[in-house]
Amino acid sequence: MIQLSLQSMSDAETPFVTRLRATGDSVDPTDSVLVAEDADGATYAGRHGLISILAASAADLDGDVVLVAPGAGRVERLLRARRLDIPTNTLLVTERCDQLCLMCSQPPKKTHHDRFQLLTDAALLAEPESLIGISGGEPTLYKGQLLTMIERVLTERPDLEFHVLSNAQHFEEADVERLCASVYDRVTWGVPIYARDPGLHDHIVGKDGAFEKLQDGLAVLLGAGCRVELRTVLLSDNAPHLAELARYVATRLRFVEAWSIMQLEHVGFARRRWRELFVDHLSDFSTIGAALDHAHLHGVHAQLFNFPLCTVPAAYRHLAQPSISDWKRKFVPECGLCTERERCSGFFEWHPDGEARSAVRPL
Ligand code: SF4
Repeated sequence: MIQLSLQSMSDAETPFVTRLRATGDSVDPTDSVLVAEDADGATYAGRHGLISILAASAADLDGDVVLVAPGAGRVERLLRARRLDIPTNTLLVTERCDQLCLMCSQPPKKTHHDRFQLLTDAALLAEPESLIGISGGEPTLYKGQLLTMIERVLTERPDLEFHVLSNAQHFEEADVERLCASVYDRVTWGVPIYARDPGLHDHIVGKDGAFEKLQDGLAVLLGAGCRVELRTVLLSDNAPHLAELARYVATRLRFVEAWSIMQLEHVGFARRRWRELFVDHLSDFSTIGAALDHAHLHGVHAQLFNFPLCTVPAAYRHLAQPSISDWKRKFVPECGLCTERERCSGFFEWHPDGEARSAVRPL
């Protein structure tokens, strides 16, 4: 697993954002340039003074946009440079959430530290043509700051795009005009929907009335012409009702860009209830296959996230995306024999090794 938070020391008194450079070639005033490196780590100098990053190599950090938090003695790698064809970096804007999903991979916190200005500074330093993810918690709990950040970054950087994960509970009719602005053509909203039945959806997200608000929020987004990707995590609770959800998506939400059916992560709340919640698609893919077929038949682009290629029947393998970010993805020794590894999502780092090894069939 690649560490995104590193121990550090800095001269500065307040947090700041900078890009790390291994050489002084074509540096920007916001960059910090390597001045020393040894077995303990790398030291950089920039307009905020010196930063020493422990247990890290300058080659590995070259080009990364980092948030230096002197008080915490940490450096957060917000935007990793695209050395390994990293498709997306994700900015976490808050750890607060107004839902409590029963399988939440990153259980919410009650506190919020506003870092919108720092995240804006970071996004403005992104590599050309980057797609930047925004997640939480629930980013739209701070809708005003979020939209201001998106608009500023996309206005100053016409080459960038955002993908925002949101439960769509906080959009209102009054937002339509703002969301119609042309910068939002470069924003995709990733919105979870777990079931057609309001009671079941509300049960999964732990909030009464959530489905009704979700419908309202989707109406605002789609009414403003926004790009929407629906996301459904598979659980033992909703898997038997996937066909019903597929019909709903195909009839009421057919103008979405995509519908992503996602396999569960063995982390957060799901870890404790894994046996109870996990849907073993290796044993029975028929419900998932039928939902994919129905969606495609009606013009909805349905796809699979977090499904290792060899665990998917051949007819549906082209729909399985390499959806797991490199820093939290792993392969098991058997994958060394596989010819499809480059196209495969692999497994989350925290997926049980025994289950992963018994599931794989190298292609
Ligand atoms: S063997 Fe490994 S790399 Fe190949 S498809 Fe399966 S999980 Fe992916």
